[in-house]
Amino acid sequence: MLRIALPNKGRLSEDARELFTDAGLEIRAAGPRALTASLGSEFQALFVRAQDIPEFVADGAADAGVTGFDLIRESGRELEELADLEFGRCRLAVAAREESGMRTLADMPPGTRIATVFPRITRQFFDRCGLRVEVVPVSGAAEIAPHIGIADVIVDLVSTGSTLRVNGLLELTTVLESSSRLVTTAAVRADSRKAKALEELVGALGSVLAARGKRYVMANVPRNTLEAVRRVVPGLNGPTVIDIMNGGDHVAVHAVVSAATIYRTIADLKALGAQGILVTRIERLMA
Ligand code: AMP
Repeated sequence: MLRIALPNKGRLSEDARELFTDAGLEIRAAGPRALTASLGSEFQALFVRAQDIPEFVADGAADAGVTGFDLIRESGRELEELADLEFGRCRLAVAAREESGMRTLADMPPGTRIATVFPRITRQFFDRCGLRVEVVPVSGAAEIAPHIGIADVIVDLVSTGSTLRVNGLLELTTVLESSSRLVTTAAVRADSRKAKALEELVGALGSVLAARGKRYVMANVPRNTLEAVRRVVPGLNGPTVIDIMNGGDHVAVHAVVSAATIYRTIADLKALGAQGILVTRIERLMA
């Protein structure tokens, strides 16, 4: 049995549950507050705070875990990254009050006080920049600090940027780009049985992530447009072309295409005389 630590609440928890469920690892918990749950096959989920997951994995309480790259780096623990799970995307940024007049790091006077929930990353960042600052660790709501005289500057997570704007703060620079990661340790990887199970888990999660950015498109097109159709829907290895019974001069083409440009794809296919266009989601994609 492999224990996988998953965030019990907060921004990462819903997305982690959804990804595991989509990958066929349905979370079967005894109740909404259960601390563990079966994930079917050889996995068990352990629900803990996202902040604690790097420690739990590093100490061997869990064999692997899902948490934010920011929290992994802040923990300072030695962990091996198995996959970027893409959700929980955000950046850790340096921000100052708009009225401070600071626009870049070069405007920060020596000894500037910086409030943050990420003291380790912040110290490392300013050390690397060769800037002398005073880090003020806080446990949350760092954006208040400049307004109540605790600090002049903050280092905080930014997603849309609206929290900074609402609090009259201006981003000076990015310290770190973050997203959720699946991590384990070298010790777990040295166990061939566990390593194999984790490899299968990475494959399953990866196939769901790959499928999310894709759509399966089907259309009936005049046979004499196939060369042009191939340019519109190149597919993974060229589109699949299928005869249609009594289809006259039409054939069916099927292809996997990018979800981001599906609107354009449909318009281009229509312009080539395509009929009966169908677009579906893909559950899993193993290229
Ligand atoms: P936003 O207003 O969208 O820029 O979000 C910023 C607020 O949400 C800050 O208070 C952050 O601490 C928090 N936040 C944004 N993204 C994440 C994330 N991926 N993980 C945890 N907290 C986040």
